Amino acid sequence: MPIYEYRCQECNRTSSFFTRSISQAVEPVCSSCGSQRMERLMSAFAHHKTVAQVHEESGSPPAFPTPDYYSDPRNIGRHVEETFQKHDVELPQSIREKIDAARQGVMPKELDV
Ligand SMILES: [Zn+2]
Repeated sequence: MPIYEYRCQECNRTSSFFTRSISQAVEPVCSSCGSQRMERLMSAFAHHKTVAQVHEESGSPPAFPTPDYYSDPRNIGRHVEETFQKHDVELPQSIREKIDAARQGVMPKELDV
C-alpha cells in the first residue's frame, strides 16, 4: 500500500497518508493542526509505489508488497539508501531512523508520526 509523507508548513509536524491505489489522489491535511499547507516528503517506504508502478507498466498485476519481501528485513529501505547514495547525499536522520526501526520489526503502520 503506498504511503505518502507530508510535513506541515504551519507546525512542522510530519503526517503519513495511506492510499489504496497509486492512482488515487492524496489530499493531505495536517493531523496536528488541520493545515492544508503540506509539503511532500520522500518516504522511507516510497519504494512500494515505485515497484508497483513498474509492475503496472510491464503488464504484470501489482503484487507488492509481498510477505516474502518483508521476511528479509534487510530489504527494508534499501531502495531509499541506494537512491541517496547514487546522488551522493547523506540519508536524513528521520529517514535513517525509520529504516532502522522497520528493520527491527517496527512496520510503518505502527510508527507514531
Ligand atoms: Zn500542522
